Amino acid sequence: MAHVSPDISAIRARLLAWYDAHARSLPWRAAAGAARTEPYRVWLSEVMLQQTTVPHATPYFHAFTMRWPGVEDLAAAEDAEVMGAWAGLGYYARARNLLACARAVAGDHGGVFPDTEAGLLALPGVGAYTAAAVAAIAFDRAANVVDGNVERVMARLFAVETPVPAARPELRRLAALFVTDDRPGDWAQALMDLGATVCRPRSPSCDICPVSDQCRGLATGEPTRFLVKARKADRPHRRGLAYVLFDAQGRVAVETRPDKGLLGGMLGLPTSDWTAEDPSGPPPVPADWRAAGAVEHVFTHFSLTLTVLTAQGQTPHADWRWMPVQDARAALPTVFAKALDRAFIEPDLFL
Ligand code: SF4
Repeated sequence: MAHVSPDISAIRARLLAWYDAHARSLPWRAAAGAARTEPYRVWLSEVMLQQTTVPHATPYFHAFTMRWPGVEDLAAAEDAEVMGAWAGLGYYARARNLLACARAVAGDHGGVFPDTEAGLLALPGVGAYTAAAVAAIAFDRAANVVDGNVERVMARLFAVETPVPAARPELRRLAALFVTDDRPGDWAQALMDLGATVCRPRSPSCDICPVSDQCRGLATGEPTRFLVKARKADRPHRRGLAYVLFDAQGRVAVETRPDKGLLGGMLGLPTSDWTAEDPSGPPPVPADWRAAGAVEHVFTHFSLTLTVLTAQGQTPHADWRWMPVQDARAALPTVFAKALDRAFIEPDLFL
């Protein structure tokens, strides 16, 4: 293996020059030469982008900023409206935290985001990554912004053999070597762009990478070996029943899920408990329930097979309410939207 010793200053200069020429045009980014992006837009985009992709988050970002153009507008929104608008983005605790944070900024800070990493970190629901990203991008603070992309780039540049999660402190330390008071916001975004468009997880484009001659991972001949990951424990599997009850007008019975727990506070279809065993027990209301197949869904900590039962009936459970199918389809989290779609394989119900 050729000996490569990454030069911090050279990498910084090259990557910033590359960013000046190739920065992605993203809806939440300020145009080249414009003032920095509003903190509200940076914060909103960073929360949305955690665990989802730019193409998936983009329409949500447009919808949110059209409907709630500023943090005080969002703070004044009804919980259910925001939860509904978030449906499909996953990780619903984030939507609750989003509202809590917006209300704290509106109520305790006069509608103005704190301009330091520490001040941002003190807001409800704002973690270390988001605080650093907003501090760097919106306020040009010298914050060390480390997400999965940055970890991968650092692991490759320095050929870090230690697997994550044990390697995380080392990767963070390496990333910090590059953070200075010179253009910290642009540096954070340059690194994000490199990770997203060039140093991609499975197929890095090392031939066009502006720092390839500084990359120890490339010099090993196997850059994709990094980031090294510890073997994951298998994800547990659960099973449950979803009850899709229609009335004579074709509306569907929905309920608001309890605040605590998975998908807390979101709109849901009625379901049984989700357990490792096959679900049993009578349906929650009597009706001519018919099986309509099953849907699969993968959550962060478990996968789920949801068997769908469907019926027509007039008496929803006390906690249920009727909703037009189109409205429910738009507002339900993905797992329930899949179950609702599944119920439509029984077309004779709607004749
Ligand atoms: S040379 Fe390849 S592996 Fe190294 S940083 Fe560039 S794209 Fe990533």
